[in-house]
Amino acid sequence: MVRTIKADVLVVGGGPAGLAMSLLLLRSGLSVALAEKSRSLEREYRGEILQPGGQEILHRLGVLRGARERGAYEHDAFRLRQGDRVLLDADYRRLPGPFNCLLSVPQAHMLTELLDACARFDSFTLLSGTRIGALLHEGGRVVGATGGGADGEREVRASVVVGADGRNSKVRRLAGIGTRRQEAFDQDVLWFKLPAPAVAGRRLVEVHRGAGAPVMVYHCHPDRLQVGWTLPHGGYREVAGRGVEHVREEIARAVPEHAEAVRAGIRSLKDVSLLDVFSAQADRWVADGLVLIGDSAHTHGPIGAQGINLALQDAVLLHPLLVAAVRGGDTSAAALSQFERRRRPVIAAVLKLQAMQGRMMLSSNPVATAVRPVMVRAVSHTPLYRKVLHRLAYGPDAPSVRADLFTAEPR
Ligand SMILES: Cc1cc2nc3c(=O)[nH]c(=O)nc-3n(C[C@H](O)[C@H](O)[C@H](O)COP(=O)(O)OP(=O)(O)OC[C@H]3O[C@@H](n4cnc5c(N)ncnc54)[C@H](O)[C@@H]3O)c2cc1C
Repeated sequence: MVRTIKADVLVVGGGPAGLAMSLLLLRSGLSVALAEKSRSLEREYRGEILQPGGQEILHRLGVLRGARERGAYEHDAFRLRQGDRVLLDADYRRLPGPFNCLLSVPQAHMLTELLDACARFDSFTLLSGTRIGALLHEGGRVVGATGGGADGEREVRASVVVGADGRNSKVRRLAGIGTRRQEAFDQDVLWFKLPAPAVAGRRLVEVHRGAGAPVMVYHCHPDRLQVGWTLPHGGYREVAGRGVEHVREEIARAVPEHAEAVRAGIRSLKDVSLLDVFSAQADRWVADGLVLIGDSAHTHGPIGAQGINLALQDAVLLHPLLVAAVRGGDTSAAALSQFERRRRPVIAAVLKLQAMQGRMMLSSNPVATAVRPVMVRAVSHTPLYRKVLHRLAYGPDAPSVRADLFTAEPR
């Protein structure tokens, strides 16, 4: 038998966007049903670098400290290196505190804290292990969705459905909304973790260029090294065809200081995961009774670590609009479109910045490589440096959490 649930808002997807959205709405007195296809909060193939903007939002939501206490590492800077030469150094310590670092926090820690906070509201219904497979329509508008899992079929009826189901969004497809994939970042990423003892002193998020393809490396909790080895789209088949020994040695050559860990940690090709990294923008973010946020509206790869920050900011920006729309009984596309109008130019600017960062990190032009450190040194004491750093940390036009709308108290 199909179980029917009623809520003011159905959120599809329990990632950073969906959980932050749920908590903001619950604290504002709305009832929320959250459908998440996975039963676990582990997101193996996701990065975990959180920019200052995202840290501030989690702090305002009261969950940052808990997430950090579960285990997290602070990184001082983002650095691009070629051998011993520093080509670029974005030093976050030059930003005003208290969020002047890049925080490496496992997604499970952040998501657990957000979910625990949501679960303190009686008006929250968690549909864990429920994969949304169809939208419900009435009078040409979306009025809910259906999905199923081990616990059976569910039908959720809501004033509005928030699609926060990530880069391969089912909700987006079901709503007939197309998406434009951008190949600005023409790379695939081989993603894996290696055991690594905790480092004393400064921690950095680094991209190593040099021998072989560029590699991204940072320490993550607990005592692991997260490695992202980039290679041209479709290039993995050729590399893998030469066997694990070849792959291992190529990576060891690219990060010689971690060569031992690479040799010990990569025993077979099963120890690495190939990820298709791309960016994209959905053609529309709103429809009558429906709004897309986070990666389902605009997809981000790992370059510049922007996706989580932007997903959280989407929720923050949409929050007051959704509260007003649900309370006012108008969740039409027209009522929701203010979100897309304000947010799309911001996202376009960040995607452009990420594409530029990608080109800069991956370009092998020898003139650019020689000139870049000189230019960076020259601007690093100017207001422009601070401005760019602030933009990386908070994004353009960062919205503030509307705590004045928090009317409901948790249990
Ligand atoms: C390799 C890689 C590394 C990255 N590193 C970083 C980084 O370091 N920092 C950073 O800021 N960003 C990073 N990003 C980008 C970042 O992961 C995303 O931008 C961010 O996770 C988007 O959050 P979201 O909540 O919109 O989507 P997601 O995190 O993708 O969450 C979507 C959720 O929806 C659920 N779902 C999907 N379909 C359904 C369905 N039909 N029914 C119910 N539930 C469903 C999924 O299980 C998932 O929990 C990286 C991306 C990649 C690919």
